[in-house]
Amino acid sequence: MTERVGFIGLGNMGRGMASNLVRKGARVTAHDVNAVPVDALVQLGAARAGSVADVARASDIVFTMLPTTAVVDAVMGGPDGVLAHMPSGGVVVDMSTIDPLVTDRLAAAAAARGIAFADAPVGRLASHAERGESLFMVGAADGVFARIKPLLEMMGTTIHHCGGVGSGMRTKLVNNYLAIVSCAFNAEALALSQRFGLSLAKTLDVIHGTTATNGQLKIAWPSKVLKGDTAPGFTIDLAHKDLTLIVEAANAVKVPVPIAAVAREAFSAARSRGRGDLDFSAMADVLCDSAGIERARLR
Ligand code: NAD
Repeated sequence: MTERVGFIGLGNMGRGMASNLVRKGARVTAHDVNAVPVDALVQLGAARAGSVADVARASDIVFTMLPTTAVVDAVMGGPDGVLAHMPSGGVVVDMSTIDPLVTDRLAAAAAARGIAFADAPVGRLASHAERGESLFMVGAADGVFARIKPLLEMMGTTIHHCGGVGSGMRTKLVNNYLAIVSCAFNAEALALSQRFGLSLAKTLDVIHGTTATNGQLKIAWPSKVLKGDTAPGFTIDLAHKDLTLIVEAANAVKVPVPIAAVAREAFSAARSRGRGDLDFSAMADVLCDSAGIERARLR
């Protein structure tokens, strides 16, 4: 791998992904406003950059894994951002989950500077990112996809080329509609099960044998909230952000998504109770609190 790689955003997802790049031999220059994860990555062999501009100048391909649309817009497109400082011929790959209209605008700004753009949002959990087992939904021209694929393969096991720029982000919103809304209705169903006095383990046994089952309940929750672990993971704040993106993006193309809107407000209620920084599976605890029930746990 001769390409020099930049990585900006070493949070719950980014630190595991960047660690895999370094461990598997990529030459990585990293930056985060929080020095702690940068220190850990430097210990593994990455170079530290003092600013976003320094990452852009030192890299042929820059990955961003940042929390929100506003942060990506500033880090990528702002006056001190990646596009202003990267030489032409480079590639920028945004792996965050953001407003796809901003993805389109940043891609056009990159093209005007001779920089290629790809959106490659990520599926699965932070624990998968840590193990290099992420799933990517890539929107990119064919040549750009071919250039970034070896790096994505260092971070993940499943790489989908969804189409041109913007198609990865739009696929991610469709995916997250299902993944996040299911948290809201799982929480209600489990609170109801407990209020009925049913066994949590037996209820789950039944659900997993019918079409009522879903990935949150089957794969994610047994190792998180159902064991009493509410450390993020993927925060309630970010899940709320994604449901807002979904409602707005759907409304922009005149597709009504009433269930997403209701689920978003369930997450709003959790945030107003100071639970925004918990894992999104903790919606189960929030619902039980509302119903005055203490959550049962799996042993
Ligand atoms: P996070 O909040 O844990 O990490 C974001 C990182 O960006 C932090 O380390 C923060 O310090 C850094 N940062 C913020 N502003 C910055 C700036 N201006 N310059 C440099 N660094 C800056 O978020 P996360 O959970 O890692 O998620 C990142 C993105 O990936 C989000 O868009 C999220 O929706 C998406 N996502 C998350 C998960 C998950 O399970 N956590 C899964 C798939 C996708």
